[in-house]
Parts: sequence; structure tokens; C-alpha cells
Amino acid sequence: MPTSSAASAREILTGLHDVMAAKSGAQAKLNRVVRIIAEAMSSEVCSIYLLRDGALELFATVGLNQSAVHVTKLALGEGLVGTIAEQVAVLNLDEASRHPEFAYRPETGEELFHSFAGVPIVRRERAIGVLCVQHADPRAYDELEIEALQTVAMVLSELIAGAGLVDDAGAAALSKSESGALRLNGLKLVTGMGRGQAVFHQPRIVIEHTVAEDIEAERHRVYSAFRKMREQIDQMTNLAEFGVGGEHQEILETYKMFAYDEGWSRRINEAIDSGLTAEAAIERVRQRTAMRMRQIDDPLLQERMHDLDDLANRLLRIVSGQLGTAAQTGLPHDAILIARNLGPAELLEYDRRKLKGVILEEGSLTAHVTIVARAMGVPMLGRVRDIRRRIGEGDALLLDGGEGVAFVRPTPPMEEAFEAKLLVSQKRRAEYAALRDAAPVTRDGERITLMVNAGLRDDVAALDVTGADGIGLFRTEFQFLVSAALPRKDSQFRLYRSVLEAAGDKPVIFRTVDIGGDKVLPYIKADEANDENPAMGWRALRLALERDGLMKVQARALLEAAAGRELNVMFPMISEPWEFDEAKALFESQRQWLAERRKLLPSQVRYGAMLEVPALAEVLDVLLPRLDFLSIGTNDLTQFLFAADRSNPKLAERYDWLSPAILRFLRRIVREAHAHEVPIGICGEMGGRTLEAMALIGIGIRRLSITPVAVGPIKAMIRSLDRRAVMAELDRLLDAPNGELRAQLGSWAEKNGISIG
Ligand code: PEP
Ligand code: MG
Repeated sequence: MPTSSAASAREILTGLHDVMAAKSGAQAKLNRVVRIIAEAMSSEVCSIYLLRDGALELFATVGLNQSAVHVTKLALGEGLVGTIAEQVAVLNLDEASRHPEFAYRPETGEELFHSFAGVPIVRRERAIGVLCVQHADPRAYDELEIEALQTVAMVLSELIAGAGLVDDAGAAALSKSESGALRLNGLKLVTGMGRGQAVFHQPRIVIEHTVAEDIEAERHRVYSAFRKMREQIDQMTNLAEFGVGGEHQEILETYKMFAYDEGWSRRINEAIDSGLTAEAAIERVRQRTAMRMRQIDDPLLQERMHDLDDLANRLLRIVSGQLGTAAQTGLPHDAILIARNLGPAELLEYDRRKLKGVILEEGSLTAHVTIVARAMGVPMLGRVRDIRRRIGEGDALLLDGGEGVAFVRPTPPMEEAFEAKLLVSQKRRAEYAALRDAAPVTRDGERITLMVNAGLRDDVAALDVTGADGIGLFRTEFQFLVSAALPRKDSQFRLYRSVLEAAGDKPVIFRTVDIGGDKVLPYIKADEANDENPAMGWRALRLALERDGLMKVQARALLEAAAGRELNVMFPMISEPWEFDEAKALFESQRQWLAERRKLLPSQVRYGAMLEVPALAEVLDVLLPRLDFLSIGTNDLTQFLFAADRSNPKLAERYDWLSPAILRFLRRIVREAHAHEVPIGICGEMGGRTLEAMALIGIGIRRLSITPVAVGPIKAMIRSLDRRAVMAELDRLLDAPNGELRAQLGSWAEKNGISIG
């Protein structure tokens, strides 16, 4: 037996290279392959089993009876070969017959052989066959021999796919431990139901060429890919491309550790020595590490494995020049996007007509990517563990965002249940749609103002569809997020004008840009921000007041777009009253500037503040007299109240909006605003959830701006509610908190026949 895996693999690979280039038929090629391997590894038996018609069929062998070729077949999971394919795992046995899965096939004559080593032949992360060697003496194969076999199996995968001996679709349907239907549970991020095929945001690279023509050239390619990857990681750390600290920072640290890990690059180099291309070498090392890690039952290590896997994929994408995300390569119709995490700008790149859902490994309820998905009407599920291993590219998926589940490769009963639920939800949606022209009035006659949140041009259509009273929050930064460069005044003007025109008589509240936090813009340089914790950093109005050129352009665009009609402007992240004064003064100076040039001005400009920084609540007596309206951004406010990063997936389910702390805090603000007769509303995601909205009305809120899909359910809730009764109940519960508020409110709602959907 050769002592070096690189040497033996190289010898075999040279032989395989000739076989692949030869003009002979597929069967003849496989016959030659088993002979080459058997000879190079001095093994008495070498066999190849391939997946065909749902079974692993013996396609070629030396050492076993030739009459067994195309006769011996094993089901997936049956015998040693079936086990290897099913588990995509290696078996290395000195006495094969002692393995519990051993299945004796007399036609092969294998009783002569005691030791057995088999490795899966993998394509697109699925086993499409098995390569094995056997010996008469009972002996365990050493690690180098197994590695040589795995390297050879990789090349075989190319040969087999090239010869069309197995079809990928068949393999996808049959192989791998996760081949059956699967139910995945996750965190409900955006309700709605979607059906489609799995598309990875960062597509897996399929390796087409495994055998190197020129080893030194391949080595060079890997070196430069490593260099590029390290640059990218360093840049990512600087740019905080992942947005915020916490876990993301941790991931970047781990990426960095792996990117500079000598062991990893050395192993890839060794794989290149054995004759593989750069791509195949990276993939080979990735597979090997993955197989090893799978045997270790340590969640922390598994997590790290994940990071290494991500990085290996990045390296592969660099080396193969396939850098685009699925948004750039184009979506199929009915796609369900799979990603570890996404930024809001990345999601906005996708064609919303084709996107039927998103499944994330991370994600949280108020991260901006979730808000964008909600605005796009795309159901989204978060916190689904290990999705890359459990979902394959192209797998059929059913996503139920409202239930927080996804079905992978669904069975007919799953399809039927999904279909039935879809009908119910469509019926319910039709009922909500029928409420379009019904006023949101409580049973005791209080008219609630129900507006929608928007940010994309198309969102304005929601006004007509839902019958909402206006746009209570137009997130102007969304235009910035989808642009490659800072949007010019003209394009800002055009957007604002078209939004106002589409809104007709209904009011629109434009929020000035809220950049920063998890809304990262590549053209606003990080070294300017340099934030350890961007959510609390140089963002929103803080950034806009400092870069007042940006704010002036926006002010001009808004004032001109609203010429002849009312303009409502609000400023995000006001922490102290002077910030409001300064922002308002900036707008007023632009209004003055336009007036001097005899431009048509808005008939009225109303200025409002967002309350999302807790400190502001303590100086409302100072601020309120200066405001035309106040809007509470509960997404940011609650993250600051609880000191719980809104985009940290680990905290996503930790704190509840329906807590005495939050509701008491809000009640105090509402009372103070009422005392100053300043209109007050809520524009955070909290207002779009029925039970939360009921509680908000219970503390005195009469104005909600919510995600468009929530208008129907919230309107139904309002129309079934007695405002005086809910206010009394909230006072009772908040004055002496005792027990779990969510449960108490839920049962009160049920007892009083409130529609909470
Ligand atoms: C909020 O913070 O509640 C809010 C409405 O603004 P955004 O979600 O855009 O930060
Ligand atoms: Mg906010």
C-alpha cells in the first residue's frame, strides 16, 4: 500500500485523467477505473455502485464476480453500501460481516473478503454512488488510504455526471439522510404562505473539473483566492458588513480565524498535490472536515463548522469567479430563498414577483430585513437551524410563516394540509379585504386612525387595497438602500412626488433618512462611522445633521415634491430636543431658499419627531410644545428599553412587547402627549399585531401606522373592541402587574369576543 495519500491519489488521478479523455463508452471507462484503483491501492476488490432507479447498482468491479454487475442492487440504507450512501459517510471495517448493516449477496462471491472500506461518491452534496475496496485479510485501512479513496471518489463524481450515468434530479430525490419529507420549525417573522423551490442566496458551486492539468497553476489560483478572501474578511470587519455587533461580530472573528488558519490552507495544498484542481481541493477539504465534525456531538463545534463551511463556499466562489448572489444570477419562478442572514439591501435586490418566501438561519422580528420582507409581502421564517444540510438547492418547499414552519420535500398529505390551510387563509384574507371600506371604529364609537408603513414606490398601492387612512411612516432610506450610489435630488424628488400623487388626498408622513444600524450603505464609508455598536451609533438624524448636505438635498426634494399640498416630515432617533430644532431649522432654511427663488411651496409643513430613544421621554414637556405630532418607533425604543439588540437572533424571543415595563412606559408618553394636545401614534411593528394593538388602544393610542397586510386583521380587531372596556382592563393589569400579561390579555380578548385572528 502506498504510504502517502497524495502520492497514491496522484497516481490514480493521472490514470483517471486518461480515462476521462478517452473516447470509450461509459461502462468501459468504469471498468478501467476500478482496475486502476485496485492496482494503485493493491486491493483485491474495487467496486463502484451507482444510484439508478432508486437503488445502488453494482456498475463495475474487479475482484467480485462479473456476473453480479448490474444484477446486485441495494436499497438506500441497505447493507454497507446503502448505509454509506444514505449517511453520506465513510465505512472502514476490518471485518465487514460484523457490521450490523452487513447484507450478504451470494452472487458477488464477497465472502472471501473480510476487510472493507467504502466512501460515498458525492455530487451537489448528495451521494450518487459508492466506491469501495475489499481485502481478504482482516485489516483496517489507514487514514491516508481513506483520503485517497475520497479524492478519487470526487473525480469519479465528475466522470459519472459527465457520462450521464446518474441523473442529478433522481439523486436529489433519493439520496442523503434528509431525503425524506421534513418539517422545519422556526421563528415566525412574516406571516403568509408560500410555495416554491429552494434557492440559496449564495449558491453552492458545482465543481465541474476535478483533475488538474497544471498543478502549479492550481496552487497559484488557490493562493490568490486566499489573498482575496482575507482582504474581503478584513474589509467586512471594517465595514461591519453584517451590520451590528453581538453574534455577527463573533462570526466575523471566527471567519478571520479560519481565513488565516495555516492548517486549512495546508490541507488544501496537499489536496492539490494529489492532482486536484483548486476548486476540487477546496471542496475535498470541506467535505472531509464536514464528515469529521458530524461525528462530534458538540453544538459549539458544529457552529464553528458552519462558519468554516461558509468560508469554504466563499473561497470556492472566489476561485471559480462565480461571485454573484442568486439575485444576480436570476431567480426561477416561485423561489424560496435560503440564507444564513440577509441585509435589507440584499433582499431588496430580489424580484418580488418571483420570491415566494425566505428562510433564514438567523433573523429577528424587528431586524430591517424582516421589515423589508413584510413590506414586500414575502413570508419569512427565521432561526431555522442547520438549513444548509437539511435543504438542498431546488428542493420543493412549503412555507407557512404564520405557523412558523416549513415543509421540505413535502409528502402528498403535507401538500393537502397546506392547500387546505391556504384556502382558509385566502378566505380569511377575502374577509379582511371586504373590510376595505369599513371604518376602523370601536364598538363604543371611537374612530381609530389606521395608516400604513411604506418605503418602496409600489407600497403606495397598499393604500387603495387596504383602505388605510394614509402613510404613517414612509421610510425614505429604502431608496438609498436599493441604490448603488447616493440617490440624487432628482430621483428623490421623483419618488416623493409619485408617492404623494398616488396617495391623493390621504396624508403621507415622510421620515428623513434613517441610515446606519443594520441599514448599511456601501457608499457611506465605515471609517466615518467606525461604530462598535451601530444601532446606538452614528445613525439616523445624528448622521444626517452632521452630513447636512445629504439632509439639505432631501429637504429640497421633499419640499418641491409637496408643492401646493401639505408636507409631513418626521425625524428619526431624536434624543434631545435641540436635535429636533436643528433638523427643523434646516428644513425651514431650505423652504426659505426656495421661497426666495419663487418656487411653489407646500401649503403647510408639519414637523414631527420619532420617539425611539428612551431619554426623550423625560423631556417631553420641553419638546411637545414644538411638535406638530409625535410617533413612537417601538422597534428601536424597545431594544433600548430592554438593552436587547433588535437584530440579534439570540434575543429575538427573549422579551415581550406585552410587558408591564413597555406598556407603562408607553402609557406615560401617551398621557403626556394628550395633555399637550399633540397627536401621537405608533409606527413600530408592534402596532401590526392584533393583541399588541389591542393593548396599545388600551393605553390610549388612537393612531397606528402598520404594515399593510396587518390592516385587515387590525381593523377587524378594532371593530370588535370596546375601547372603554379595554382601557379599564389595561389600567387594572398595569397598575398591579401579576402574572403573564400576554396570556392575561389573550384570555380577556377571547372572553370579550375580540377578533385577534
Ligand atoms: C422603529 O424603530 O420602531 C421604527 C418604526 O423605525 P425603524 O424600524 O425603521 O427603525
Ligand atoms: Mg427606528
